Amino acid sequence: MASGARRTAARAAAPFAMVAVRAGDASVLARQPIEPARPKKGEALIRHTAIGVNFIDVYQRTGLYKLDYPAILGSEGAGVVEAVGVGVTWLKPGDRVAYTQPGGAYATHRLIAADRLVKLPARVSDEAAAAAMLKGLTVHYLIHDSYRAREGDTVLFHAAAGGVGLIAGQWLKARGVTAIGTAGGAAKCKLAKAHGYAHVIDYTKEDFVERVNKITKGKGVAAVYDSVGKDTYPGSLQVLRRFGTFVSFGQSSGVASEFKLADLAANGSLFATRPTLFHFIAERSDLERRARQLFAVIGSGKVKIAVNQRFALADVAKAHAALESRRTTGQTVLVP
Ligand code: NDP
Repeated sequence: MASGARRTAARAAAPFAMVAVRAGDASVLARQPIEPARPKKGEALIRHTAIGVNFIDVYQRTGLYKLDYPAILGSEGAGVVEAVGVGVTWLKPGDRVAYTQPGGAYATHRLIAADRLVKLPARVSDEAAAAAMLKGLTVHYLIHDSYRAREGDTVLFHAAAGGVGLIAGQWLKARGVTAIGTAGGAAKCKLAKAHGYAHVIDYTKEDFVERVNKITKGKGVAAVYDSVGKDTYPGSLQVLRRFGTFVSFGQSSGVASEFKLADLAANGSLFATRPTLFHFIAERSDLERRARQLFAVIGSGKVKIAVNQRFALADVAKAHAALESRRTTGQTVLVP
């Protein structure tokens, strides 16, 4: 090997993390060397093979969700166990694992509480797991718990061509639910249609309230899953049927700060919830049950994980820029 190539290989192999040095735009993400420590009691050291990128990472980088900076961002990943601490009897070096947990994933290696890890079945790739632990488990609780979508229901899901959105369309279809999606632009609408949505509305061009009323013949939908927030929530309330459920689970366009409880009465005695994944997997038994069902639906082929963007870990700023400017579809993965 030429000495230049050897130096490059050595540099590539040295453990590092991408750190948000302070709150700000994507330029605050800086590469810093790390020294993976030996796992303490109850911990595991993992070497990442793939890391998922999520909109929550953007909120944490901009400071919308407060962190103590400097901070390693990244909330889902997959990899290989390198070492375990005392008391971790169910994992061994070499096991393939995945997790979702706020922060710490944008790194070649990390220490993590072993009870946050799930083992990967052979039929689920590292990349699919890294892309689906946060987004797929989110879809799981949204459609089973926040509003339990049943066969015959019609529901509306915003940002249908996004990471969470493409998983949701397929899973809702598999449950016999008629899903209406919204997406920005013709290409995204086509993609969402190919991922389970019965109807897709380009909400950058069409009035989604009018279209949903037309599709449902004025009845409205049983639930709206709204992660767009500020731009969509007034219309989301209007398209719900009487006693429908407004599930507000994100704010990619900004916070719905004008929302008032009285809006629920005015739009049909609605129910509203503002959930977050980490409450739904706080207990180890819930994490295991939900992950088992997620892996089963991926393994069966009913839900395909569309990794449509890949970036090197060191290029995470480019991944953030793409996500924020609505240039991504489906899942975005970092390769360490
Ligand atoms: P996405 O891949 O869905 O990306 C966000 C999408 O939002 C964009 O592609 C865009 O789609 C749409 N969007 C609408 N308006 C804007 C805007 N002004 N700026 C940027 N994007 C906009 O991201 P994720 O799949 O990672 O996450 C989806 C949402 O779900 C996020 O809001 C996230 O915070 C939330 N979430 C919440 C969780 C919870 O438990 N509460 C857990 C996981 C995710 P288009 O161009 O089609 O409009």
